[in-house]
Amino acid sequence: MPSAGLYFSHPACLEHDPRAHMPEHPDTPERLVAIERLLSERGWLGWERCVAPPAEDRHLELIHGSRHIEAIRELCLSGGGGIDGDTFVGEPSYRAALHAAGGACEMTRALLGGQARVGFCGVRPSGHHAERDRAMGFCLFNNVAIAAELAIRELGAQRVFIFDWDVHHGNGTAEAFRRRADVLFASIHQSGIYPGTGAASDMGSGPGEGYTINLPVPAGSEEDVWLALSEHIVLAVAGAFEPDLVLISAGFDAHRDDPLAGCRLQESSFAELARGVRDLAERLGVPLGAVLEGGYEPAALARCVLQTLTALGSDEPPRSVAPDPVLTSRAAATIARHWSL
Ligand SMILES: [Zn+2]
Repeated sequence: MPSAGLYFSHPACLEHDPRAHMPEHPDTPERLVAIERLLSERGWLGWERCVAPPAEDRHLELIHGSRHIEAIRELCLSGGGGIDGDTFVGEPSYRAALHAAGGACEMTRALLGGQARVGFCGVRPSGHHAERDRAMGFCLFNNVAIAAELAIRELGAQRVFIFDWDVHHGNGTAEAFRRRADVLFASIHQSGIYPGTGAASDMGSGPGEGYTINLPVPAGSEEDVWLALSEHIVLAVAGAFEPDLVLISAGFDAHRDDPLAGCRLQESSFAELARGVRDLAERLGVPLGAVLEGGYEPAALARCVLQTLTALGSDEPPRSVAPDPVLTSRAAATIARHWSL
């Protein structure tokens, strides 16, 4: 019997601990421990566990400059320290970051090689804030961006769709593909919080104009807004884009219990988000891979991942696209109010 999906992880990802330099740091190994404990109790939902190998330098260099890679390596191997007010590394962090990026690459290779329909990388540090030459926002290397670029450069994909549903804007991923028409980047994020980028008016540049979709939502936004924006804007555009691969920057910090932001999603909200993306991928007949980003209340994070994997691994036929008029009108009202339309 084929597995429900492929789950990539590596013990090295548990060793990265910013608390060595900042005791109250929210990006703790316990986040992954909680996820893995809950999934283990549920028999990993029938997913096959796969080893996330370390990324090679040539993979990192698909997105990052060699000086950035070398600077991170040297800082970590010399004992670590602070990169900015949020981003701290220790000696094990470099190895963790290699396995995080390598997991995303290996998952993408497996998905495009036809080994499975869906995959998930339970890795850290996260990646979506990391820019070409800059680590920031807890992120060292941009795992999702590296995977997307690998898919296009080496694995035969012509178009990749990246859906970033972390509550923070994925500035690093957005910048990596700002001028590109072969990567559609869509982000729903809370406005007015870190990192401050991702205005709705930013739709990409030059040949990439129209291939960046930024959907900031106000603090306090509930799942009706998030789901409506996902279904009626993000997934509608992504369907027309006809990607060969769908990637999710899967942060769960829009959950109502999360200490870093103020949105009000529940575990079931992420199941619905995931179900929508999974249905899109099924209708297009293309694989879907998700990579962990944020989510800082470990118990809630674990429940969100469980719900997401359950939805992604479902073998139910994809739902047809049937817009819900109530959700649509509430999303439209929110957009109009927030963007002063
Ligand atoms: Zn986040």
